[in-house]
Parts: sequence; C-alpha cells; structure tokens
Amino acid sequence: MAIKGADIVKKLPGTNCKECGSPTCFGFAMKLASGSTTMDKCPYLSPEVRAELEEVMAPPMKLVTIGCGANALSIGEEEVMYRHEKTFIHQPGIALLVSDKEDDTAIEHKIRKIEELQFERVGVRLKADLLAVSFDSGDRLRFEAVVRRVSDTATSISVTKKSLILISSDLDALFAARDICAHQKPLLYPITAENINAAIPKIKQKPTPVAVRGEGVESLIPLTTKLREAGIEEIVLDPGSKNLTEAVRDQTLIRRAALKHGFRLLGYPTIVFPCFTTAGVMEEILTAAAFIDKYASIIVLSDIERDSLYPLLVQRLNIYTDPRRPMTVEEKIYEINEPTTNSPVLVTTNFALTYFAVSSEIEGSKVPSFLCVKDTGGLCVLAAWSAGKFTGDTVGPFLKKCGIADRAGNKRAIIPGLAARIREELEDELPTWEIVVGPREASDIPTWLPAQVEKWKQH
Ligand code: SF4
Repeated sequence: MAIKGADIVKKLPGTNCKECGSPTCFGFAMKLASGSTTMDKCPYLSPEVRAELEEVMAPPMKLVTIGCGANALSIGEEEVMYRHEKTFIHQPGIALLVSDKEDDTAIEHKIRKIEELQFERVGVRLKADLLAVSFDSGDRLRFEAVVRRVSDTATSISVTKKSLILISSDLDALFAARDICAHQKPLLYPITAENINAAIPKIKQKPTPVAVRGEGVESLIPLTTKLREAGIEEIVLDPGSKNLTEAVRDQTLIRRAALKHGFRLLGYPTIVFPCFTTAGVMEEILTAAAFIDKYASIIVLSDIERDSLYPLLVQRLNIYTDPRRPMTVEEKIYEINEPTTNSPVLVTTNFALTYFAVSSEIEGSKVPSFLCVKDTGGLCVLAAWSAGKFTGDTVGPFLKKCGIADRAGNKRAIIPGLAARIREELEDELPTWEIVVGPREASDIPTWLPAQVEKWKQH
C-alpha cells in the first residue's frame, strides 16, 4: 500500500463520530492503511476524497486475469521486490507456444502434452497454464483454424481448460481470432506504437486483456497512457528486451518503478518470450528459470518436456510459497498401502514436505501402514520438538485422541528417529504402548519398515 495512516487521516472528516466502528478517525485511518477495513464504513467521505483514496490505495501493480473459469490465470498485484520482505503473490503463468505454421499432428501433440504433463508435489498440482497461438503462416484462415482448434480444446469437458494468448502483428488477423474466443478472455499480443490507435476501438468492442510491446521500458509509457485514457486497464507489459541481461534489467526497472515509486503507468504484470530470444532448449529453460525469480508474470516457451518443465514448476512453487506460512497437511490418520488390523503405526508432523517424504517412502516400502500426522503448526520434526510441539506430552494425548489404537488394533507406535529423545516421555504418557524409534531419515524407511514388521511377526 502506497499511503500511510498518518496521510490518510488528513483526508478524513475528523469528527471522531465512531460510526465506522473505530473510536477516532485516526484509528479508522490506521485500519484503512493496514487493509483491515474498507472505505464504505465511513459514510462521511466525499466522492472526491473517496476517489482520491481509492487511487492512492490501489495495489501498485494491477491484477490482470486471463481466461475464465477454474483455470483462469491471475497475474500481477505484487507488493514486494524480494520474497523475504513478505511474499510473492501470483505465480507466473507458463505458456506453450503453438505456431500456425506447425502441422496439425505437431499441434495435436502439443495440446496433448500440455494436458498430460501435470505433477503432484506436496499436495499441489503443478502444470503449465496457457497456450500461446502465433500467426506465422501468413494465411489468416489457417490462423483462425488453429485458434478454433486450440480454443475448442480449451472448452472441451474432457481436457483441462487452458487460457489463451493470441499473437499476431496483423491486427485484422488478431481481432478475427479474438472474436472466435473472446468469451475465453484471451490475452492479445502485441499492441504497439504503430497499431495502438487502430487497436483501441477494437479492444473496446470485446474487452480482453492486452499486452503492449515497446522498444525499451520508457517506450511502454505512452502506450499504457493511451490505453488507460481509453479506459483499458487489463494491460501486460513487454519491454522488448533482446537478451537475458537486458530482460533482467528491464523487469527489475518495471517492478521497482511500480512498487517503490508508485509509478502507475508501469504498474502492470509482464510477459517474456524465451521462445524467441534464446538459441537452444537448455538456454531457453535456464532463461525461463531466471524469469521465475526476476519478475516475469507470463513466460512463453517453444516446447515443454517432462524433464525441463518439472524443475521449472517446482522452482515456481518454491519461490511463490508464502515464507510466513509453512506448507501443511491436515492433522489426521493417513492410510497408506491399504492397512488392516495390526498394520504398523507411524507418527510424524504436519509439515507438508515431511509428510510427503515420509508417506512416499512408506508407500515405496509396500508395507500397509497407518501414518498419524500431528499438527505442529507446519514445523518439521526437529523444529517441532524444539518448539515443544512434538514431545511426549503432546504426541501421547494426540495418539489417544485420534483413536488409532482402535483403528489399527494395536498399541505400537513408531516415532521418527530425529525425535528419539521423546521415547521415554511418550512411554510415561502411554504406559500400555510399545514405542519404537524409527529411522532418522525417511529414505531409510523402505528397508527399515519391512524388517521391523518381520521382527514383530517373529515375537
Ligand atoms: Fe471519522 Fe468517518 Fe469514522 Fe466518523 S465514521 S470516526 S468521520 S472515519
């Protein structure tokens, strides 16, 4: 937020009437500045003051949504330069380029690939987000046919709906393609200094997001000015950077201008094209990786493969995870490999990475098991133990309360090797239970667990 409470209060009536629920106008101003209340709570703001406050309090980077429905992609609205300051908010969309010069088989292959290349990690589904259709053939009918094919895919109930980017320097071809799928809110690219006057009336006929392309950051300013004056606000920026060095500089300039200086004319998300500016697959993927950190909102790739897309998606997940909130899973009993009576019971914390590491190793062990996951506020085993959230007197009551003894038909609990020191406390809490210390590393579970089960059988 660009304005402080002390500045807001100067614009309030100053009567301290309390109707907004705050004891004073100053209190209300502080709440407004922190985002914990809204302007409509004060009935005495003039329309002029309200408009002025809305302008200064608007996010420094506009939110833009491409597509519609469950797979609509929202980008922008970022608030910080560095993730450790707070969090990055809207992760960049990864787009797969489809040229209308490619033959139908290749296009079908790409459509299938973007659908099939999806991954599960820490309970999150990772996937590419958009299809970018480029007019390269010079044949408008061919371009329209490809757009129709891709947008049909996007509306089919049998596949994931993908949001679309339409790319054409031929304005008539661009808007003819837009008319085919306007209801899907595609992103139109590029709006340039040369075509903007002709483009504005066409954009306004069926509003969808547009991406402006300039020759350098400064050249974007007259373009966004014109669009804003025409009432078009869903804008994405391409400064036309020619290589990675220029691109990182330009992306940083745009982000800094918007966030640090409140410069509204550059307060928009950005699009980058490693597919056009790099020479080979490896360079393209490494460039895309740099853009995930610095600060692209859409990254267009010429192709995607399992071994290149997955690392990019994991990197994106890591960078856009809120560092203030650990990723967690629900506190409950998880059944792995279809456990039955007398299956072993393991205990761990609800830090998502811990849970997924342990559960996948148990799965790999092929031993039917119960995994009791205790809520530790998202802390891993050692951190939870040192914070007093994974101790004998917290794990014991949890095991009693969750009812695992009835469900598993036994009173044997395997605790993580890293928490071996809670064993005695736990035995005091659960005197009728057998407490076994498991391996320190989850990766040892596949060998340790079958051997332990065998040991129990022989006793
Ligand atoms: Fe001040 Fe408005 Fe709140 Fe009254 S309602 S105390 S005028 S901010």
